[in-house]
Amino acid sequence: MISPHELLRDLEAAGIKDAVVNGNLRLRGPTTRVHSFANQCRRGKAGLLRLLSSRQTCVLCGAAIVERLLTSWGGKVVHRACGERAFAEAKAAYPAAYRHWLDDDPQ
Ligand SMILES: [Zn+2]
Repeated sequence: MISPHELLRDLEAAGIKDAVVNGNLRLRGPTTRVHSFANQCRRGKAGLLRLLSSRQTCVLCGAAIVERLLTSWGGKVVHRACGERAFAEAKAAYPAAYRHWLDDDPQ
């Protein structure tokens, strides 16, 4: 059986967002993909719930953060990829405000 960390990573890679509602696990995402993970999530539910309740949530996309290296956006934690996307969008929208930033270093 895979670990809760691995299961969560697989879910996120499949585009499935998780939400803990009153101690119950709700999966949001493309229906066929959610169904393909249903059994695995039912078996690993306790560990997954424990992991999710201890995780921080990305303010940009709303999914739990699995990465060890936390990235922040406006002082709130985000996925690295979400933070980089938001940075690129902000830089494109306000080039003058971001001209002092190096292109390859969003920090
Ligand atoms: Zn995110």
